[in-house]
Amino acid sequence: MLTDAQYDLLRQTAFQLDNLSVEQLENIAGLADAGGLSDAQLLEFLQVANLLYRGGQPLISDAVYDTVFLAELQRRQPRHPFLHTVEPEPAWTLKTLPLPEKMLSTEKAYSQDGIEKWLARVQKAAGELNLDFARLVFKATPKLDGYAAFDDGRVFYTRGDGSKGTDISRVFERGLSVAGNGARGQGAGEIVVSRRYFQDHLAGVFENTRNFQASIIKEKELEAHALAAIQAKAAVFFPFAQLPSWQGTAAQIRAEFDTLVTEIYGWLDYDVDGVVFEVIDASLKQALGATRHHHRWQIAFKTNALSVKVKVLGVTPQTSRSGRVNPVAELEPTQLSGALIARATAHHYGMVKNLGIGPGTLIELTRSGLVIPKIERVLKAQTPQIPERCPSCGSHLVWDSDYLYCLNKTKCPAQIEHTIEHFFRTLANVDGFGQKTIEKLHAEGIDSVYAVYQLTTTRLIAMGFGEKTAQNLIDQLQRSRSVAIEDWRFLGAFGIYRMGLGNCERLLRHYRLRDIFSLTVDDIVTIEGFAEKTAAAVVECLAQAQADFKRIFQLGFNLIPTDTSNDAPDDSPIKGKTIVFTGTMAQGSRDAMKKEAKRLGAIVSASVTGKTDFLVTGEKVGATKVVDARDKSVKVITEAQYRDLIS
Ligand SMILES: [Zn+2]
Repeated sequence: MLTDAQYDLLRQTAFQLDNLSVEQLENIAGLADAGGLSDAQLLEFLQVANLLYRGGQPLISDAVYDTVFLAELQRRQPRHPFLHTVEPEPAWTLKTLPLPEKMLSTEKAYSQDGIEKWLARVQKAAGELNLDFARLVFKATPKLDGYAAFDDGRVFYTRGDGSKGTDISRVFERGLSVAGNGARGQGAGEIVVSRRYFQDHLAGVFENTRNFQASIIKEKELEAHALAAIQAKAAVFFPFAQLPSWQGTAAQIRAEFDTLVTEIYGWLDYDVDGVVFEVIDASLKQALGATRHHHRWQIAFKTNALSVKVKVLGVTPQTSRSGRVNPVAELEPTQLSGALIARATAHHYGMVKNLGIGPGTLIELTRSGLVIPKIERVLKAQTPQIPERCPSCGSHLVWDSDYLYCLNKTKCPAQIEHTIEHFFRTLANVDGFGQKTIEKLHAEGIDSVYAVYQLTTTRLIAMGFGEKTAQNLIDQLQRSRSVAIEDWRFLGAFGIYRMGLGNCERLLRHYRLRDIFSLTVDDIVTIEGFAEKTAAAVVECLAQAQADFKRIFQLGFNLIPTDTSNDAPDDSPIKGKTIVFTGTMAQGSRDAMKKEAKRLGAIVSASVTGKTDFLVTGEKVGATKVVDARDKSVKVITEAQYRDLIS
């Protein structure tokens, strides 16, 4: 029998069985006999066996593969190409495999003195080879701070432990391009993302660039933003062979060290965390060799700055979707771990006020993966710069504990525009509704997502959009409703407080979208990850958002319901069933029972409807409730019967 994993591999690689049925495949494997097979069947069997073997799910033993089937092909068709070439295999396995070349680490120096010591070692080795050190040419390149990988032209590997990596060829199948000349097979390099692109398009979605890089290679289907970044060629694989480089002598390195380093740091629009110096001469490289850890012929210079002192020029208020006004400190542009930092965020205006952040404040910034770092420490305080009015609508701002708010929910341009922007950005299935377009629409009186959906080409043209653009926008709106989209993403697009994508998905794993507006705090706290306080906020905010949600929902979107029985065991007797618990339970609490039912894949509902499968009754249940359930053809069972059912 083929296992599920073997089936999956065949499916994932879209392998076509033309000459054998699955049943035949199983029989042949079981008998380990190639005698009765036609040539085409034999070849197909070998291909399947090879594919499953490479995928880590072997069908037959290596010995049977070699001595029975491969030997049979050898006997019948000794020149068959299958015997003499390695087939290019699609990639799907998480098994580690040996890297074509060892990927060593790089030795690091944190001072020019460290570079001096390395140069001295190179000089000594050059002397032993009778090379003229003074004329020896060195190369310097930016040290990319991305996700290390190796491309042999066929398989794309993670760096793994330096000698064994994981096959991530799927990343190229997803459209990742190679920087520079675009050719595959250039060996070691890094998966990197444009800093500018990250800041403009990804900073709101990913914590930092590393986080984003990891998301590109993960097995799960690509997140829409990650896919867009790949398609825009903002995320690429950058082979070291394609890096821009400086060449010069040791004397030049010594003389121009600071300028050289600063210059090279700034060459690329990618995260760079050092400058790599290396020997070019092949004989010298060979003589220098390698330790188990690094090549002796290269060294990375890294600035030691883990933190820098920076002067604040001013604090700019930014009104967010929720009306909260966030402080952004404008800084004297400063280099920090490879990036030019010009802005930093403070947690809230309470911090600005308490720590004295304003023009002239001296702060300390610590190296982090964030594009816009957070202010953690103030070295020298100044008069805090705190706005009185909303920078967008001019309303008086109001303090709520440490936060400043603009309460002009319905008229504040920043809040309206960010809400519309958030909706389309979260749907992530249409183009055209970026910041500029939304600003323009809002200026013309479009003040809600619903209003956007009421637009017509005529109206858009009257607003000053070109005919083509107008038509495209209308097409995109149509498309946003016809393209299938997960219901949790749709819910997340409304930007309801405390309802980020993660919470939306968690909630919809347990309750259907149509039911969420009638949930109580009790219903929500039973879900893993929702504390009492969050649950209360969710109930309140869902209630506030309900009218707006329904209006847009009724426009008709192509929603994919979240699988409510995802992790439940397959043999769960209540998987996919809708259950209502009522009354006082004898063994353990009702909440615990609800949690367990959910774990077993049931949908726990608060009230009985025609869609309910079981009403589980504890003690002290009113007769009307039971009669009512029976009227709706709902099976009414006692707590004991229920426990029998699931045991
Ligand atoms: Zn405002």
